[in-house]
Amino acid sequence: MTDSPRSPSSSGGADNDSENRRPAHDEPHTAGVSSRLNWLRAGVLGANDGIVSVAGLVVGVAALSPDRGPILTAGVAGLVAGAVSMALGEYVSVSTQRDTERALLEKERRELEQTPGAELDELTSMYQARGLSEETAHKVAEELTAHDAFAAHVDIELGIDPDELTNPISAALSSAISFTVGALLPLIAILAPPTGARIPVTFVAVLLALALTGAVSARLGGANPRRAVVRVVLGGALAMIITYAVGQLLGVAGV
Ligand SMILES: [Zn+2]
Repeated sequence: MTDSPRSPSSSGGADNDSENRRPAHDEPHTAGVSSRLNWLRAGVLGANDGIVSVAGLVVGVAALSPDRGPILTAGVAGLVAGAVSMALGEYVSVSTQRDTERALLEKERRELEQTPGAELDELTSMYQARGLSEETAHKVAEELTAHDAFAAHVDIELGIDPDELTNPISAALSSAISFTVGALLPLIAILAPPTGARIPVTFVAVLLALALTGAVSARLGGANPRRAVVRVVLGGALAMIITYAVGQLLGVAGV
């Protein structure tokens, strides 16, 4: 590894940023809490996707046509297509990850059966690498091995909790549901108001909703909420402006 260009001495007075990145004391310590947080974060991101993509669709169609029919059709089609595509993507990625984790767990189980001595040494050296003396590390490794060798190895070597493997079907369902919840917002915002107010109402409703999802996901991830909100709101506004412009252009072109 090469030297970091931002060594401590060269960073001068700019300590504010590293202050923000220091791990918070209230960070989750158990696998249960962190996996629940991951679920929540995935749900918020799914809702975010639903809001932005369907908002872009319906604003684009509304820019071209004042009729409710085409707007409703485009919005519902976008909602269904997006939910299905999110579910499929999630299913495939979680299944692959679970296969990988299962293979690693199986390999560890085999190694523990076939070469218990080498595995004890390995555990010892891992605790030494974490700062324990050889004597203490050996004692810790022996006690953990006597208690539950498999759990000890899986925890320190792989960082996997065998009881917490994500279920691909529930991951797929929850991302489809969160996308749908998000997608309903621009759909309602564009269909409920009278024709002239449709696009402005949708714009405002979508940007407010994105500010909320941005703040929530930043909070869940322990990041700076203001920066997250600015990013997601600008991104959403850009998406709607682009599709609005595309709708206008297609209208001018007489499509
Ligand atoms: Zn091992």
